Amino acid sequence: MSNEKEMISLHVDGKEIQAPKGENLLKLLIQHQFKVPYYCYHPGLSVAGACRMCFVEIEGQPKPVISCNTTIAPGMKVNTQSTGLTQIRKWNLAFHLINHPLDCPICDQSGECGLQEYYMKYGRYESDMHEPKVNKRKVVDLGKHVVLDSERCILCSRCVRFFDEVTKTSEMAIFNRGDRSEIGTYADRPLTNNYSLCSVNICPVGALTSKDFRFKKRVWFLKEFKSICPGCSTGCNITMEADIREKRAYRMLPRYNPDINGYWMCDYGAMRYKQVNAEHRLLTPQMKQEGKWTPIEWEDALAFVRKCVASQTVILITPQFTVEEIDHIYAFFMKQPTTPRIFHCVDPQSAFDTTITDELLMRKDLNPNSQGILQVSKKHKLDHQTLEPFQKYIAQNKIETLLVFAPSDLQAYPHFMDWLLPAQPIPNKIVIGTRIELIHSFFNLALPTLSFAEKSGTFINVQGISQNIEAGPKLVDNAKPISEILC
Ligand code: SF4
Ligand code: SF4
Repeated sequence: MSNEKEMISLHVDGKEIQAPKGENLLKLLIQHQFKVPYYCYHPGLSVAGACRMCFVEIEGQPKPVISCNTTIAPGMKVNTQSTGLTQIRKWNLAFHLINHPLDCPICDQSGECGLQEYYMKYGRYESDMHEPKVNKRKVVDLGKHVVLDSERCILCSRCVRFFDEVTKTSEMAIFNRGDRSEIGTYADRPLTNNYSLCSVNICPVGALTSKDFRFKKRVWFLKEFKSICPGCSTGCNITMEADIREKRAYRMLPRYNPDINGYWMCDYGAMRYKQVNAEHRLLTPQMKQEGKWTPIEWEDALAFVRKCVASQTVILITPQFTVEEIDHIYAFFMKQPTTPRIFHCVDPQSAFDTTITDELLMRKDLNPNSQGILQVSKKHKLDHQTLEPFQKYIAQNKIETLLVFAPSDLQAYPHFMDWLLPAQPIPNKIVIGTRIELIHSFFNLALPTLSFAEKSGTFINVQGISQNIEAGPKLVDNAKPISEILC
């Protein structure tokens, strides 16, 4: 039996469209970029039909219908634009805004708010409201990541459905009736699941905001880059948003990928953007001289590295570099006359462990590219050179130089420095990485390289899927790509 869906034909605004039988009409209209406004519909959630904004006209139907709750049918003739529909959208919006505060100038959603956007497109009415607005609670603390301004809420129920249907933790609900209806959590309990920021991302207005992003940056100053979350081996697709003039990353948002993360990402992952900013970074090469760390020029640092790797050298690589970088490291050192020993610290079992450790997406392996390092090391016939053989080798041999390609996210390796302890007697200990913590008494020389947000390349996730990361702006001027350091 064929898996291909039966296609049917319908007309929208006079244009013929082929679509799979049973498709949701609003989903189809959005896919084909017809301009139909909506708030409560979300392709990752069930249909609520709450906001009443997505009305369209269908030939043969006596009244306009909401397209989110309509299944397409063969020969259907749909009209998305008419004077009547514009009036419906306009006065529906007036209802949504009856009790909405006029705090756009201080609202974080400004610039990406559905109310602002549709008001400019369909609203622009003189309000007939003479009653005072119903005031609701502001700045309600909903746990570690989320703040609620309930008077901005338009009761679309997206957040309620998200916690009911996606995380299945059901923390939120709409309480009371009529104009006293109010969004909240049961008994004002905090949101403790690992996906609370998804509710902020899907809230179409500024009712749910991120504690981390709140009042930090106007969204129109941010530029987007397509990347992959480095927080674990799931490899959720994300958009990194940075202010290029400030050379600063501000947030990470989920990007749709039906095979990996759908529309979502976890809170832990969403906070991984912080590590790429300058205050957490090694800003310049530094050398330990007479027990004190001192910034040095790249030229002098690389001269020291060249001298060191001419002696008996061991390399250790962590799986937070891209496939291209890892391949470059292996290829470069395999060619050296001293043929240094190269090891990696991937546990092959956890690299293939697909067990979910939270409500939805997160995996135990907190590295983005464990499978990448295994593939590259296998290509160079060094895949069994893991941490255990590394520790044995340094205990049994007289090594002059240790070169460590360090993790940029220390959460993945909280005991990293303990693992290195057997290497303490090695005279030259050089580290290449991104974090300020690399200025550690263990090493003699620390070299700054690029974070995942500043380079392009490939990560291979736990399912074996290769995914590209896009380079954003350079956030640390004096950091160099691995290829340049090795050259
Ligand atoms: S808080 Fe936001 S997502 Fe939740 S019901 Fe209100 S408007 Fe919708
Ligand atoms: S599940 Fe893993 S990859 Fe996805 S957002 Fe969370 S930490 Fe990042």
